[in-house]
Amino acid sequence: RSGFVAIIGRPNVGKSTLINEMIGQKIAIMSDKPQTTRNKIHGVYTADNYQIVFLDTPGIHKPQHKLGDFMNKSAVGTLGEVDAALFLIDAAEGLGGGDRFIIEQLKKVKTPVFLVMNKIDKIQPEALLPLITEYKDLHDFAEIVPISALQGNNISTLLQTLTKYL
Ligand code: GDP
Ligand code: MG
Repeated sequence: RSGFVAIIGRPNVGKSTLINEMIGQKIAIMSDKPQTTRNKIHGVYTADNYQIVFLDTPGIHKPQHKLGDFMNKSAVGTLGEVDAALFLIDAAEGLGGGDRFIIEQLKKVKTPVFLVMNKIDKIQPEALLPLITEYKDLHDFAEIVPISALQGNNISTLLQTLTKYL
């Protein structure tokens, strides 16, 4: 089995870190600066019985200029073509306007979307459930997976769950 998976999220939520953690190589460009990742970077994860091509989409965000608008359309286009999308959020920052805008874009496609709650190493465990409720109110997510991309927590569960959608 094989499939394509897009990684979507505001700048700095940890998209590049997650791709690097899953693929185990420095493929995506990591930076603290927002929007360093200008191009789709394909990383391929190969296991014994499946293969996943990851697309690190440039930030889907409220366009402020023509280039932003173009990047935005291109990201939504990508979303419609993949087998599943990982919508990454920063669990420590919580729900913001940027997330709401992305969720509006997610509603334009039929692609199953995972709510991937990253940076759980930065929050108290009891803070997770209220946050899940808040996001679930906004969209019908196919799966909800809390992770720490930086510490490598729950990444194997994420990959295992993804195989259901290939
Ligand atoms: P991107 O803009 O979405 O690609 O985000 P990056 O992968 O570049 O990460 C932005 C910042 O968040 C970097 O400083 C990362 O080290 C940090 N980061 C990413 N994942 C985690 C995590 O799980 N926990 C913590 N504490 N920091 C993280
Ligand atoms: Mg990045």
